[in-house]
Amino acid sequence: MNSVVAKVYCRALGVGLFVSVQGIAAESLDPPQILPRSAWEALPEDNRLQVLQPNGEIKHISVHHTAVDKLRGDGSAEAELRIIQRGHRDDNQWGDIAYHYLIAPDGRIFSGRSPQYAPNSGTRYQSESQWREAPIFTQEDVARDSRNVGIGGTKTLPESATGPRPGHVAGHITICLLGNFMEKEPTDAAKQSFIQLAAYLLQKYQLTISDVWLHREVAATLCPGNQFYAWLRDYPQGERYSLGPGLRSVQALLKR
Ligand SMILES: [Zn+2]
Repeated sequence: MNSVVAKVYCRALGVGLFVSVQGIAAESLDPPQILPRSAWEALPEDNRLQVLQPNGEIKHISVHHTAVDKLRGDGSAEAELRIIQRGHRDDNQWGDIAYHYLIAPDGRIFSGRSPQYAPNSGTRYQSESQWREAPIFTQEDVARDSRNVGIGGTKTLPESATGPRPGHVAGHITICLLGNFMEKEPTDAAKQSFIQLAAYLLQKYQLTISDVWLHREVAATLCPGNQFYAWLRDYPQGERYSLGPGLRSVQALLKR
């Protein structure tokens, strides 16, 4: 939503109201419980190389999976997060864990990178206009795979793609679910937390459901996994950027 939105807090009702100039009112969503970095004993960010870049105006929420089958280390989400951070912060020299929010299989939501910093990606992204005009995975790609489980992964970006190169992708907030969702969906707990968090963030940044990017839609990757993707989008029956059960649930919360 690009309209100017005024937030009015209604103390008597105990809820906030978002009232837009178009007269649309929606109840403001309570933030889901988001555990701080200290909950997973995160290392501090390391910006000695000045690799952490400002995120600027937030225009998108993007959705990812870790593509790692099992939680590593001692099998806890906390250990997995520490391992991811070491890989991103130290091995990749990205300054910190790449993602802003991470959701564990048990549904807990953890803070990752500060939202003030742009996330990192190992993939190159299409620009927004390129994405809208020529998505990497077209309806024809999808139609070749009636089960909606086989697209992605092998395509390379068209030459015309001039979006940011691997590294920083400013202007979006990343949500990453811990796990590999190629063959299985996330747990119900993780999906519920995703719905709550995505709706909250879309409202917080005054975005709409169409501002949600799924990683494979803008980069040559299978992320966030075929099964998670099929829950989010309604391919192949729907429109190109249709809403599957997951994003419909996010939308329903926003409209409540
Ligand atoms: Zn991703």
